[in-house]
Amino acid sequence: MRVIHDIHGGIHPPERKTLSRPGVLHQVVIPPLLVLPLRQHLGAPAQPIVAVGDTVLGGEKLAEPQGVMSVPIHAPTSGVVRAIELRPIAHASGLEDLCVVLETDGKDRWVTGSGNEDWRKSDPAALLDVIREAGIAGLGGAGFPTAVKLNPGSSRTIETLLINGTECEPYITADDTLMQCYTEALIEGAQILAHIVDAPHILIGIEDNKPAAISRVTDAASKADPSIEVASFPTRYPSGGEKQIIEILTGRQVPSGGIPADIGMVCVNPGTAVAVREAIIKGKPLTHRIVTLTGEALAQPANVLACLGTPIHFLLENAGLTAGPRQRIIHGGPMMGFAVSDLDAPITKITNCLLAPTAEELPLPETAKPCIRCGHCAEACPASLLPQQLYWYARAKDQEQLMEHRLFDCIECGACAYVCPSQIPLVQYYRAAKGQLRDSEQERRRSDNSRDRFEARQTRLEAEIAAREAKRAARKAAAQNKASEDGSDPIQAAIERAKARKADQEQPS
Ligand code: SF4
Ligand code: SF4
Repeated sequence: MRVIHDIHGGIHPPERKTLSRPGVLHQVVIPPLLVLPLRQHLGAPAQPIVAVGDTVLGGEKLAEPQGVMSVPIHAPTSGVVRAIELRPIAHASGLEDLCVVLETDGKDRWVTGSGNEDWRKSDPAALLDVIREAGIAGLGGAGFPTAVKLNPGSSRTIETLLINGTECEPYITADDTLMQCYTEALIEGAQILAHIVDAPHILIGIEDNKPAAISRVTDAASKADPSIEVASFPTRYPSGGEKQIIEILTGRQVPSGGIPADIGMVCVNPGTAVAVREAIIKGKPLTHRIVTLTGEALAQPANVLACLGTPIHFLLENAGLTAGPRQRIIHGGPMMGFAVSDLDAPITKITNCLLAPTAEELPLPETAKPCIRCGHCAEACPASLLPQQLYWYARAKDQEQLMEHRLFDCIECGACAYVCPSQIPLVQYYRAAKGQLRDSEQERRRSDNSRDRFEARQTRLEAEIAAREAKRAARKAAAQNKASEDGSDPIQAAIERAKARKADQEQPS
């Protein structure tokens, strides 16, 4: 029996998970139009390889990745590309982004994928290529390219492949539903991942508020391979942070600024594991995902399997949205999500939940009051940070102190803001401060680069001048030697030297 460790902080907000009936999965009809943003992942946007008017099949690649931290985009069904243009996307900024707009034909015709059932005999590098080509990015919310995560470098040895089935944020039950509905696929996905990272041990961690998932996963794991370990642990928000679940299950801490692989672990979301299995076994790219549609403004909250690119309004109307005045739609959960400004925006690889709360259910935050230095935020912080100090330094734009106080260890879980009696939107300050720090870092790199370029040019010029001087001195010495040896005219020799000097000066530097 695994020892479960305590972590600092954490809170117990109302869970409200039963509202969406976890464990029951509905298939959503294909909408007439899919809007596929070229950036659905962390990293550079993909580059379109289709043109307006092209007919495409489901699974066909629409856009190629640009660089290592990028993944391709595929068509979730058959149809015709109607536009490649800026469209509203679901992002906290409310900005538009470049999207491929696909008019679906209702026939759902697909390219024939070639899978590999015999993955145990396959080279991990070849499997990584398949995962990259399938456009898989972490489905837990961050959208980190999975092939990059699975390649932590030859200097790191991975001991444990950890499937993070925590899903600790209130309301969201997409992973719970996936673990119940795709249990065998999850186990095989975990085995493929362990094969790729060469991990001898598979550990699946699930919070104890998901008894049905724990029971099904434990049963399936014991049938597939008794060495796969399933561990449950007490429910507390935000146990699902990568560093938090690792500490809960192992007692070990990922170093500040480090990654789980630094302590021999790779941590993957259950949905990502299933997507990897689909890509390897069936040759199917990532084109669909499970989304929790929930909140009391919906007549039929549910978990649905939907095409990526489905407009948010389409899903909410299907779930019976009765919009109240100033209805808020939250992308993600109530703790870490953000309000969607345009319901034409589509769901993407990172959309795990759309929350439509009534005003009574989730009242708008009150106006922030001054900090009373109560310290509740520090007690709640799972990363053992000092949120109050971070708040002051963020307001003062004191970048040195923000770094000193480990701003980048903040996982933006919102536990501090949740307990703050002054209702200060602390996370907004941290996000803004992180953005400013990244901008400053970029600016510093830019100026370092130009300084390096300037210094390199100076060094080159000085070397060229020194070389010319050396040549000139050598010629002068040779001419003087010759004159003294053969008694030739020193004036004529001086004229010759002047000519040579002139020729040197006319050479481009
Ligand atoms: S919880 Fe709010 S009021 Fe209390 S110290 Fe933290 S920021 Fe200040
Ligand atoms: S948002 Fe950041 S500072 Fe606040 S509790 Fe979470 S990790 Fe700590």
